[in-house]
Amino acid sequence: MKAHDGMYIDGAWRPAAGTGTIEVTNPADGTLLATVPAGGPEDVAAAVRAARAALPGWAATPPAERAARLDALRRILTDRREEIARTVTAELGSPLTLSQKVHAAVPIAVCTGYAELAAAYSFEERLGNSLVLREPVGVVGAITPWNYPLHQIVAKAAPALAAGCTMVLKPAEDTPLVAQLFAEAVDEAGVPAGVFNLVTGLGPVAGQALAEHEDIDLLSFTGSTAVGRRIGAAAASGVKRVALELGGKSANVVLPGADLAKAVKAGVANVMSNSGQTCSAWTRMLVDSERYEEAVRLAAEATAKYTTGDPLDEATRVGPLVNAAQRERVTGYIERGREEGARLVAGGAEPPEGAERGHYVRPTVFADVTPGMTIAQEEIFGPVLSLLKYEDTEDALRIANGTVYGLAGAVWSEDEEEAVAFARRMETGQVDINGGRFNPLAPFGGYKQSGVGRELGVHGLEEYLQTKSLQL
Ligand code: NAD
Repeated sequence: MKAHDGMYIDGAWRPAAGTGTIEVTNPADGTLLATVPAGGPEDVAAAVRAARAALPGWAATPPAERAARLDALRRILTDRREEIARTVTAELGSPLTLSQKVHAAVPIAVCTGYAELAAAYSFEERLGNSLVLREPVGVVGAITPWNYPLHQIVAKAAPALAAGCTMVLKPAEDTPLVAQLFAEAVDEAGVPAGVFNLVTGLGPVAGQALAEHEDIDLLSFTGSTAVGRRIGAAAASGVKRVALELGGKSANVVLPGADLAKAVKAGVANVMSNSGQTCSAWTRMLVDSERYEEAVRLAAEATAKYTTGDPLDEATRVGPLVNAAQRERVTGYIERGREEGARLVAGGAEPPEGAERGHYVRPTVFADVTPGMTIAQEEIFGPVLSLLKYEDTEDALRIANGTVYGLAGAVWSEDEEEAVAFARRMETGQVDINGGRFNPLAPFGGYKQSGVGRELGVHGLEEYLQTKSLQL
């Protein structure tokens, strides 16, 4: 695949300061797709300088003009959506149909939303004798992971640009190609030089240099809790704002009386999608003791339909994991589940048949999982579902809330009011009621160790604003 051999800084592709490179490989077969430069502190410094220099002009650009640039960006991403889908499939390994429906379509929807919001949002309001101004925070450092690579970039870049901020993006090392495509689109959309800058590189080198850079005003990070904690600490010592979107271990609570077949089918689909590499996946399914065995049977049956295979094959529902380390991590958790006494009812740690190449893992379901087990507490980030049994709704709530995470969740009930009442007591940032569908305008983010701050919609925009009051 074609790749740029430089960094997008100050409106042009420029040579990297060093000579290091990152090899981008196809997780389905291990072939080399491209190499991109591995940036270091000098590249980050050049990008931050460009963003700082561009800030006064972009911050003073009327919101309607910023909206027009985002609208142009939306149009370019829409024109290039098939290329986006194919790029994500090549570097992430997600089935092409998923890449089209989610990896390409969701960022376009988010960009559309911010183009509209930038034009409609009220950046000033009167409050008694005060005029309250909502001004851009300043220069944003954005660090993103590989699992929804374009979505996570757009969920930061679109609101940052709408707010009048300038930014430097450091994308994940596994998926830099779609990030380069995004930079091309920003350029073509006529966003002024320096407003958006891209530095590809390794997390502990380029990522860390960005997180620790003195001239960043807000650091927005999506990734693991372990790295998020370090970024939060670096931001605190520099008195910078920080937004963290971290891991999850979300509960899918099937209340007694809910349509069990529908809830289990949707629950399995939710976990297996994107090979389970979804931070908000409902990886714990909670079912009452009376219907528990039926749920186990339904989950195993549903999982059998999730065939692994070539992401370009239309019959494939589960592609490989992103890299070998991720596969080792996931199979390690599957082995741990067996050792701790969970009952394996589908899948397992051995590779799927015929998968000699590629980082494939069998879609796996564990029954008899108890709340204290590792597979009920830690984020696995693979196609692995844990089924837990509860005695009554208070027990279900205790189990649902009984992890350090709180990113998402689901509740199923024949009575929507009962489901909503249960969801109100869940310590988590998003809950889908009876399969309520994804809303790109709804705030997304974590309670507890799942993060700090919210992305998407107006809540996401406001993360990139700071307020000033003028008393008249
Ligand atoms: P990761 O934390 O290792 O990497 C994420 C990003 O941080 C990458 O760009 C990486 O290069 C960079 N990075 C790594 N070390 C760094 C350091 N020392 N300093 C600065 N940057 C550094 O995570 P990952 O393995 O790539 O992604 C998977 C994790 O991300 C999962 O735990 C998942 O739950 C989480 N995630 C959360 C959300 C969310 O919205 N809450 C979304 C997607 C993924």
